[in-house]
Amino acid sequence: MKIIFLDIDGVLNFNGCRERIDTIYFVNDKKLRLLKWIVGRTNARLVLSSTWRLGWFDRDKGLENEEVLIFNRLEEKFKEYGLSFLSKTPVSESGCRGHEIRAWLYGWEGEPIESFVILDDNCDMEPYKGHLVQTSFWHGLRIRDALRAVRMLAS
Ligand SMILES: [Mg+2]
Repeated sequence: MKIIFLDIDGVLNFNGCRERIDTIYFVNDKKLRLLKWIVGRTNARLVLSSTWRLGWFDRDKGLENEEVLIFNRLEEKFKEYGLSFLSKTPVSESGCRGHEIRAWLYGWEGEPIESFVILDDNCDMEPYKGHLVQTSFWHGLRIRDALRAVRMLAS
């Protein structure tokens, strides 16, 4: 199984992006289409590593707060594109995404992982810097990033 560890802000949205929920940036359709394209080419599954997953954790706990509502909106939007999340990374004390991804990989007991990429605009990915396709908050996910992700998932 191939995995994409997916960040949201700076990947599926970007500075100045029109899609918003109140004051926060939502997700942009062009970027979602590009993600869909990567998934279509690779059959990769999505693991949410973004802070947007906090709403998912809250929902699991039976809470109904703003984060939960926003996460639900995200999930619905993904559904429109035929996309869904396999899982989410755990929250670590360090808050370092690389550590959270490592914890997820070590804890995963499903189908073996053949390859994975990290789509994120941050770079705190140690020890997996080599798996990072780094986007930027100025542009979000771009075609060249998508091409790179497909290439990395194939190897
Ligand atoms: Mg981000």
